[in-house]
Amino acid sequence: MGLMEQKRHFSVNLLDWYMINRRDLPWRRHNNPYFTWVSEIMLQQTRVDTVIPYFNRFIGNFPTIQALAEAPEEDVLKNWEGLGYYSRARNLQAAARQVMELHGGEMPQDKQAVFALKGVGPYTAGAILSIAFNQPQPAVDGNVMRVLSRYFLIDEDIMKGSTRVLMEELAGELIPEGRARDFNQALMELGALVCTPKAPHCLTCPVMEQCSGRIAGRELTLPVKTKAKPPRPEQRLVAIVEGRGDHHGQVLVRQRPDTGLLARMWELPHVLAAPAAAGKKAAPLADEPAMALLAGSLWAEGFAARPEGLATHAEHVFSHIVWSLQVYKCTEQDQTGELPLIAAEARAAYDAQAAAGEATALSSAVLPESAATHSSEPSAPEGQNVRTGKGDGLTYRWIGPEDMEKMAFPNIFLKLISSYFAGAYEDVRE
Ligand code: SF4
Repeated sequence: MGLMEQKRHFSVNLLDWYMINRRDLPWRRHNNPYFTWVSEIMLQQTRVDTVIPYFNRFIGNFPTIQALAEAPEEDVLKNWEGLGYYSRARNLQAAARQVMELHGGEMPQDKQAVFALKGVGPYTAGAILSIAFNQPQPAVDGNVMRVLSRYFLIDEDIMKGSTRVLMEELAGELIPEGRARDFNQALMELGALVCTPKAPHCLTCPVMEQCSGRIAGRELTLPVKTKAKPPRPEQRLVAIVEGRGDHHGQVLVRQRPDTGLLARMWELPHVLAAPAAAGKKAAPLADEPAMALLAGSLWAEGFAARPEGLATHAEHVFSHIVWSLQVYKCTEQDQTGELPLIAAEARAAYDAQAAAGEATALSSAVLPESAATHSSEPSAPEGQNVRTGKGDGLTYRWIGPEDMEKMAFPNIFLKLISSYFAGAYEDVRE
């Protein structure tokens, strides 16, 4: 078989298959560029089944680009809560504002203009232009590269930029005239349903007859992909500070800085206990120095609290970091002169442990690590409970269960705080 015939076979059979087997997904029911855009951003790193309810709720609450552009950021993050990779939501809103300012609220149809939108890379630009406007633009992501590597028996490393360029050229050539919208979705659908990463269903594949990878018995060894760097492990100590007096029934939360990981989301106060080498698990700290370190850290942030005991362990995996969390229940204390002592003791205990080789000493271990990246003007929500931490400009709040509805938390803190309010850590004592 010649290459031309192999390409023709792929395009024709794939398209025929898709027209019969395509899934009915909410964003496919209209050729609305905004819906395509939102769905493509949500689908990055996230499964279709997970995305569907988020998409429906998001579009229900922000039905137009204008509605998204004008919404408070807190609302947008709240609608994204649980999907992860929150910079996607912030970029989406920033780009909606770009569309309002530069394009009168209409999604541009020009490749450069779409590509210039915040958070839109070559794949998303290609997906928007082809799916919403039927323009013959390739939309090449990891799934598409896997299918093309196998079908055309391409041995190039798909992590390399040069391979992506090659794949984009090839994918562009495969689009049948006037059928970009259906063809690109067909290619994505084949990668999602048939030519799957670990167990491709070659026997039911619409292009199996001329698939070079299958014929060569290489369907399981392609694509070639160099391993990404393993995420960096971090051991962190987390405080669930239980309020007293005016704060009875509430816990202390703080808002992350304006930039960096999980920017502007709310979290429980926590401090880095010890980093570990990439690929190695971070070692837990013994409870005594951990609690002393946490008390010292909270004091440095302007809060007097006494750790009562370990509530739970938890883990949260980001693409480049793994947090191993030791979560301690703490009780709010009066601001007395004794607490600086706790900070000093914390430092001494921590250094002693570090000297014994049980942890890696950090010169700023009792200071909140966020101090270096703090916001000068944090966007504090309305409320009497809002205050600024000592010296670093971060915003803190005492919250009750009712506040969980309005504020956006990363998943891990949402779970911990919800568990606390549900009474999960009531028995914790030193
Ligand atoms: S025949 Fe197998 S390897 Fe080839 S494209 Fe289809 S599912 Fe993928």
